[in-house]
Amino acid sequence: MAQTTPITVAYGDGIGPEIMDATLRILEAAGAQLEKEIIEIGEKVYTRGVKNGIEAGAWDSLRRTKVFLKAPITTPQGGGYVSLNVTTRKTLGMYANVRPCQAYYPFVATKHPQMDLVIIRENEEDLYAGIEYRQTEQVYHCLKIVSRPGCEKIIRYAFEYAHAYGRKKVTCLSKDNIMKMTDGLFHRVFDEIGNEYPDIQKEHYIIDIGSALLADVPERFDVIVTLNLYGDIISDIAAQIAGSVGMGGSSNIGDHCAMFEAIHGSAPDIAGKGIANPSGLLQGAILMLVHIGQSDVATRVQNAWLRTIEDGIHTGDIYKEGVSQQRVGTKAFADAVIERL
Ligand code: NAD
Repeated sequence: MAQTTPITVAYGDGIGPEIMDATLRILEAAGAQLEKEIIEIGEKVYTRGVKNGIEAGAWDSLRRTKVFLKAPITTPQGGGYVSLNVTTRKTLGMYANVRPCQAYYPFVATKHPQMDLVIIRENEEDLYAGIEYRQTEQVYHCLKIVSRPGCEKIIRYAFEYAHAYGRKKVTCLSKDNIMKMTDGLFHRVFDEIGNEYPDIQKEHYIIDIGSALLADVPERFDVIVTLNLYGDIISDIAAQIAGSVGMGGSSNIGDHCAMFEAIHGSAPDIAGKGIANPSGLLQGAILMLVHIGQSDVATRVQNAWLRTIEDGIHTGDIYKEGVSQQRVGTKAFADAVIERL
């Protein structure tokens, strides 16, 4: 039996508690050996006046366990609040955001049955560095930071990932025709590091046409490496055209810590209704199980989840007449996965 691994868990906001509850029930039923430390983050903490939505004690837990399973949170608008997601990724040095995205055709309706790609997004720099200020009442600045060490780390990670997972091609997306210094550096480092991987195909597109191709012919992409903002946007597009934004999970990887989550947000429009798809967070949790060395449990959960999807037991976001068999809520979906373990 695998050793028990301490992990930090946050239930988040909106649909967060519903999908986290479903995910943890599945992990437990599958025999995952986890010692959970629960922390509170997000709306409640912001309301107590903590500007970044996370309190000191929570950092202690994260630094101790080094593994974070996190449900989505709601970031309050304006008022000097800082994004908790950006703060966590930067503070814990989680430089790579890995977002696998594939079609489950014919079990989940999509126009892109062959789609199977991984978006590797730089996670600490770019316009998400968090440096924004007011110059005058009429003019605001947001600083775009791109460093050579930052580019080297993420681009090397992308090629190493492609090598490790037998992927054939890495595509770089940037806007270096306009931002010649920042995006130009990213593209240049891609060419330099790419030379060290002769067996992997390389290509580059300007982000505009790259996004258009992704939305039209996603099956032509394999691994995509890109800057923070572009990666955030295109991974929602990719998940949605594969079936639903509710299906995508991701890992945030650093040298010392890793965080696992769904790619979507807290979905306040459906919160509390018990209808959210827990698959995105579950996919994040499966990546976590592999990361902590419980691959056998990860495989068991992935297979049970796949069988549930293949049996047509679908939440509303992917339910389609003629494709799906049964429309279920969050809890019944989790029960169906557990039955198939
Ligand atoms: P969202 O991703 O929460 O929702 C977009 C749409 O997708 C909504 O219609 C929602 O109902 C649907 N959806 C999302 N997840 C679903 C699921 N699991 N099952 C079924 N349908 C699902 O995006 P938004 O509405 O723009 O953002 C809401 C809040 O989430 C904002 O406060 C934003 O800042 C925050 N957010 C948090 C994270 C995170 O914590 N990692 C990521 C993105 C957005």
